[in-house]
Amino acid sequence: MNGVHLTMVSSNAYIQAPGLMKKAGEWISRYGNKLFIITGEKSWASVSPALPDSLAAASLAYGVHRYRGECSQTEIDRLSDLVPDDTDLIVGVGGGKVLDITKAVCFETKRPFVAIPTIAATCAAVTNLAIKYTDDGVYEGFDTYLTNTLLALVDSAVIAKAPLNYLAAGIGDTVAKWYESAASSSGKNHNLATVAGLQMAKLCYDTLTRYGAQAYNEAKQGVAGDALQHVIDAIILASGMVGGLGEDDCRSAAAHAVHNGLTVLPESHHALHGSKVAYGILVQLIMEGRPREEVDELRRFYRSVDLPCSLSELGIERPLSEAERREIARVALLPVSTMGMMPFPVTESMVVTAMKQTDREYAERFS
Ligand SMILES: [Zn+2]
Repeated sequence: MNGVHLTMVSSNAYIQAPGLMKKAGEWISRYGNKLFIITGEKSWASVSPALPDSLAAASLAYGVHRYRGECSQTEIDRLSDLVPDDTDLIVGVGGGKVLDITKAVCFETKRPFVAIPTIAATCAAVTNLAIKYTDDGVYEGFDTYLTNTLLALVDSAVIAKAPLNYLAAGIGDTVAKWYESAASSSGKNHNLATVAGLQMAKLCYDTLTRYGAQAYNEAKQGVAGDALQHVIDAIILASGMVGGLGEDDCRSAAAHAVHNGLTVLPESHHALHGSKVAYGILVQLIMEGRPREEVDELRRFYRSVDLPCSLSELGIERPLSEAERREIARVALLPVSTMGMMPFPVTESMVVTAMKQTDREYAERFS
């Protein structure tokens, strides 16, 4: 991480409760009075009128600024120029991209970061990194920061009413932490922080497999019950702490590499990040030679939360040519991808074969 070894990265304070937006102003006022808010159209609507009302009730001064869709350097510069000198805190209200751009603006302007996630699709609210894109949405890489989130305010009732596919994607991206950190830490010396990161990844896995299906049903009804609250904490807090503790030994591996490969298919752009990662986990397990029963158990879990078990469930319905499969594998194996974190050498043929086997086994046993 920028050559600096950190052993604990997480939010200074994390508060999750249904209806929390009604108290957001009260919480934020403990840290500052003048706010610069970055948000998107739908995100802001999802916390209104509760959030603006509570900010007004706490006598906080704030300006609301819409971001233009990408966490790009141009957009970071544009928003940073708008931050008034007397701003105490910068607040991001929205999904991963809004929170990432807000972190970047906080870094540029040296202001503390307050995160208000409105969906549970990523751990962006508590991680100290921002994924950056070009203005056209092409992945550029990520920046890491030496400062953490000051305050994360998670209103689980807001998240319960968000589109369901975000929750499914969040579950996919979070369950990956267990399989990928186990792979990427394999064969290495573990210090205490790495062991804690792995325990956190196991906690993510246990929480999701125990409460995931029930949480998904609660979200279908728009209700933040106990199960959904457990799952939200796993996706946003525990998931962020896996890398926050385990650092480079608990990072992505084959599942995210396969995700990167899949982005060469234009049809895959409709699928959310965590859904492609979920498919990538199945491919990883096949490459690892895991027992069929273990893979099938994960497939059954996916079916309970509408995660894709095959390319067609990811929205790629046509048969792929051999050349397309090779291209997916080639991109998955690029040095910027994370296939190199696997504990054994992976070849293009292995990726192609494992993808075919993933889909074939699913068709044979679940259709
Ligand atoms: Zn991810």
